[in-house]
Amino acid sequence: MDFQFSEEQKMLRNTVRSFVDQEIMPHIATWDREGYFEPSIIKKLADLGLMGVCIPEKYGGSGMDYNALAIVCEELERGDTAFRTAVSVHTGLNSMSILQWGSEEQKQKYLVPQARGEKVGAFGLTEPAAGSDVAAMQTTAVKDGDYYILNGQKTWISLCDVADHFLVFAYTDKSKKHHGISAFIVERKWEGFSSKAIKGKLGIRAGNTGEIFFDNLKVPKENLLGAEGEGFKIAMASLDNGRFTVAAGAVGQIMVCMEASVAYCHERETFGKPIGQHQLVQQMIANMEAGLQMSRLLVYRAGELKNAGKRNTRETSLAKWQACDFANKAADDAVQIHGAYGFSDEYPVERYLRNSKAPVIYEGTREIHTIMQAEYVLGYRKDKPLNKMLPAWEQDL
Ligand SMILES: Cc1cc2nc3c(=O)[nH]c(=O)nc-3n(C[C@H](O)[C@H](O)[C@H](O)COP(=O)(O)OP(=O)(O)OC[C@H]3O[C@@H](n4cnc5c(N)ncnc54)[C@H](O)[C@@H]3O)c2cc1C
Repeated sequence: MDFQFSEEQKMLRNTVRSFVDQEIMPHIATWDREGYFEPSIIKKLADLGLMGVCIPEKYGGSGMDYNALAIVCEELERGDTAFRTAVSVHTGLNSMSILQWGSEEQKQKYLVPQARGEKVGAFGLTEPAAGSDVAAMQTTAVKDGDYYILNGQKTWISLCDVADHFLVFAYTDKSKKHHGISAFIVERKWEGFSSKAIKGKLGIRAGNTGEIFFDNLKVPKENLLGAEGEGFKIAMASLDNGRFTVAAGAVGQIMVCMEASVAYCHERETFGKPIGQHQLVQQMIANMEAGLQMSRLLVYRAGELKNAGKRNTRETSLAKWQACDFANKAADDAVQIHGAYGFSDEYPVERYLRNSKAPVIYEGTREIHTIMQAEYVLGYRKDKPLNKMLPAWEQDL
């Protein structure tokens, strides 16, 4: 594995970093405090080609490799978890799923405008009584001529009020359990669709998260993604891509925690010296550095496997689990290093701590990833190549 960044990747990082510094950093404290999602950020990301960075050019994307997506997520999360989450659901969970599983017609109709950033995609799997236990979902899709009639509700859906298209999972045959779930591309503008934001969130307050409802929603049969009954498999494959972006974002979260902490270590003095010279403070900085470097290696290894078109569920799960845990700890330590000042929104670290919690919960909780890793090691879980793999990255794909 070669972890040298190409010139193109370095330029990409600089572009996202300047964008974040100019367009997000000056406003984010206010947006977060007011619980306001700024829609123009999506439009500006689209103008920079960042809403489809790893989607092939022939489908409207920028045609860069999968690690380019990691770079975008890392740098965006420096600005705020809300905007990295937007890219995670739009590109990682939705567009990449259509790239992997979609028919040519679906790619032309949905992937192309999404990769260009003209339309926004989201992902609807979780329900009020079905989070980790996906098969407990209640939403149904009943075939009726050329349509499926969708009824049910999803919750905790990122971009619920913003997205144009949703990748949604529903039972077409409940008696078959996991094998009776199917995946559908659903449009907001259809009759029977509604959404409502959740208020009072701990973190990601500058993001839009909430419920979506289907009331006798008619989905054309052409909008079935993959085959009937393939929904569970598609959902899990989508999570391989979503989790990769979450892990990369966590690297950005550690990075920004370290930036803030190092600055404060040099600024604040106690007992006649900068706090950075106290060994117990140094320990927290050293832990951040270790977390940053280890997480980054895990993320880019997963990205290299994606580039090669290889199954990476195990490696991505490990990267997601570890990077999010390190980021949560780094944010906690960043607040600790700031003392009482870290406890107020005068400094950004309290926002980092609040934001770092959701990634430990979504796209597989810490506990789910712990179980997965143990099962791989014990030989209880083994992955085979899927019938449709995410295409390997080729420059001229
Ligand atoms: C900000 C935010 C954004 C989100 N965005 C989306 C989105 O865009 N789309 C979407 O579909 N979902 C989204 N989610 C939902 C998220 O994926 C779920 O919250 C997550 O899968 C966990 O499900 P749950 O909350 O129902 O927890 P539960 O599954 O009810 O788990 C509760 C607790 O029990 C533990 N637990 C559960 N089962 C086991 C087990 N077998 N062994 C040990 N411990 C276990 C869990 O680890 C957790 O600690 C989002 C969530 C948040 C917070």
